[in-house]
Amino acid sequence: MKSERVLRIEGLCVKVGDAHILGGIDLEVRPGEVHAVMGPNGSGKSTLAHVLMGRHGYEVTAGTVTLDGTSLLELAPWKRAQSGLFLALQHPTEVPGVSLEAMLAEAAAAGGRDQVGIRESLLVEARRIGLDARLLDRPVNVDLSGGEKKRNEALQMSVIRPLYAVLDEIDSGLDVDALVAVAQRVKDATDEIGLGVLVITHFSRLLEVLEPDWVHVLSNGRIRASGGRELAERLEVEGYGGVLGEATDAPEVAVNLGVSETLITDPLA
Ligand code: ADP
Ligand code: MG
Repeated sequence: MKSERVLRIEGLCVKVGDAHILGGIDLEVRPGEVHAVMGPNGSGKSTLAHVLMGRHGYEVTAGTVTLDGTSLLELAPWKRAQSGLFLALQHPTEVPGVSLEAMLAEAAAAGGRDQVGIRESLLVEARRIGLDARLLDRPVNVDLSGGEKKRNEALQMSVIRPLYAVLDEIDSGLDVDALVAVAQRVKDATDEIGLGVLVITHFSRLLEVLEPDWVHVLSNGRIRASGGRELAERLEVEGYGGVLGEATDAPEVAVNLGVSETLITDPLA
């Protein structure tokens, strides 16, 4: 029997040292879906991204993560990548001495794919994302500007063609044109290869192009509200305080806010 196609996060609790950062995250991302995660600084968004990819230093104290039925949490990061998970980092790392093309060729080989078309694929994708082809011969991210690094993350995603992508503030540092190009490329991937996307962002500008199916607000390590695109618009106008303020006083566990919007409140928070 084929397993259900979904990236499923259930009851995920994470500690760093003595600090509890995530206090029970539930999220399901299906192929072709875009889920946006927004939330105040320090709420645990990047922690969630890091834990999904298996960065060391984070202790999962409860919960599970499965990708199309494969349990991820006990796998090394490279095996998670091989299973079809991709992470675009909020702060992409420079890797001197490793060429982008060689890295992507290795990734293709590890995924059992042909390495022959990598150069061509890089050139095609660089054009789509608007990254200067001359930058393709640099070692990974070395001496790229902040915006170029973000485009480079999107480029790697496009060439690798993962099943699910976690994009941590892929829009930060991008100029308006680059932002549209990157958002459009991600959106196209949801149609072309059925990419499931979990995108962390502060800006509804990205979401205007990417058109998320769901918007979630993470605050203090828990998802406090989930809704459609209109939730991002409300956040833009009212801020996190305005949208979440109602949650702190509400006695109910879930309060219906509107058509597709649910405010989830935690009585213990
Ligand atoms: P966000 O991405 O939502 O801004 P982060 O996930 O980066 O937030 O951080 C959430 C909280 O966890 C912050 O208070 C941050 O200082 C803390 N934190 C994250 N990673 C570590 C770490 N490796 N060591 C200590 N504290 C950490
Ligand atoms: Mg972050």
